[in-house]
Amino acid sequence: MANEQARLKEIVSTLKENNLRITPQRLAIIKILAVSKGHPSVEQIYDQVKPDFPTTSLATVYKTVTMLKNLNEILELGFPEGGNRYDGNKPYPHPHMVCIRCKKIMDPDLASLKHLTDEAVRKTGYKIIDHRLDFFGLCPGCQKRE
Ligand SMILES: [Zn+2]
Ligand SMILES: [Zn+2]
Repeated sequence: MANEQARLKEIVSTLKENNLRITPQRLAIIKILAVSKGHPSVEQIYDQVKPDFPTTSLATVYKTVTMLKNLNEILELGFPEGGNRYDGNKPYPHPHMVCIRCKKIMDPDLASLKHLTDEAVRKTGYKIIDHRLDFFGLCPGCQKRE
């Protein structure tokens, strides 16, 4: 996992560079996304922010998340059944482990990813600019509960 404090500083400085205001609410949302524990959804971010900022609305969280996405400071993970999830800790393409039961999402550190990418380029001649690599299954916790 990338350094959380460093990510927080990076995101805040991007907002400053773009002359965007850093309100306490926005900062609270950014703090959650800089850690991105478990790749939160907008609803999960909202639930975490609300105790400290009771006036926050779900729409505010949506707007902030969309703004950060447009600034390329967070990665959006879309799923066909809805419920997009976000990673502001690693805002670049990387593989994910997705638990189909509890919806927990983790970042595996795969040494073979570079080889896989190189092989794909070599065999197809494509110039890669992005990738999506998701593994679906049961997390260790859910396996125990089987
Ligand atoms: Zn699970
Ligand atoms: Zn991730």
